[in-house]
Amino acid sequence: MKFFLNVLVTGALAFVVFVSCKKNQSDSSVATADLTIYKRIYGATSVSQDGNYVVIKSTALPDHKSPYYQGTQWAASMYEAYNGSGQFAQNPSKIVSQNLTFRIPLNPSPAATKSATPMGPIGVSLNGVPFFNQYAAGGSPLTNEIVSFDQYDGHPQQQGQYHYHAEPFYLTTNKGKSALLGFLLDGYPVYGPMENSATVTNAQLDAYHGHTSATADYPNGSYHYHITSTDPYINGNGFYGTPGTVSN
Ligand SMILES: [Zn+2]
Ligand SMILES: [Zn+2]
Repeated sequence: MKFFLNVLVTGALAFVVFVSCKKNQSDSSVATADLTIYKRIYGATSVSQDGNYVVIKSTALPDHKSPYYQGTQWAASMYEAYNGSGQFAQNPSKIVSQNLTFRIPLNPSPAATKSATPMGPIGVSLNGVPFFNQYAAGGSPLTNEIVSFDQYDGHPQQQGQYHYHAEPFYLTTNKGKSALLGFLLDGYPVYGPMENSATVTNAQLDAYHGHTSATADYPNGSYHYHITSTDPYINGNGFYGTPGTVSN
């Protein structure tokens, strides 16, 4: 009887050790993040994880037509004359393929000290085209540049890098006005100009142009930016979180 009990106790201990080893094994794999939401950036040439960052690579070539494809190798299929409403004054640049690499935090958190957005890319939209802030070169207002936005609300800068300062109409037409449209460099998501069937106004957003609530993609709630129809459009007084980096 005593022998039998010893075998039972030893067996039980072995089982406990076995189970705890299994548990340790699964714990060590937690570092691999679920990149599903970042793969919504369908225009990216790659989406991968590097430690606590998600790395998104993009050529920044829009997947919609543009007057700015005129005179490029893609003109035959992608050029379209301006057909938007209102005035259009095309700038002298043509679209040029880029090698953008965005490194954005996988687990964004509010920054204790907020930092201003840089000139150039401040985030990436679903089609891989970068978001720019509310300023023209030299930090001047966008006022004089808006006339050069094409029918999809984008334009190239002097090196031919195509970008959006405001609502990317091609994406909101295809994905919806309240859809996730991309991410800023601090890792927080960017949404369209509507929420719960109502238009979002700047007055409903904080100084950084966002707020915290549940969304279809973040049912437990998340801070997120909204693109609105008036200045500052995408971001306000800088990043809500700590920004990652972008290189070209
Ligand atoms: Zn611009
Ligand atoms: Zn919202």
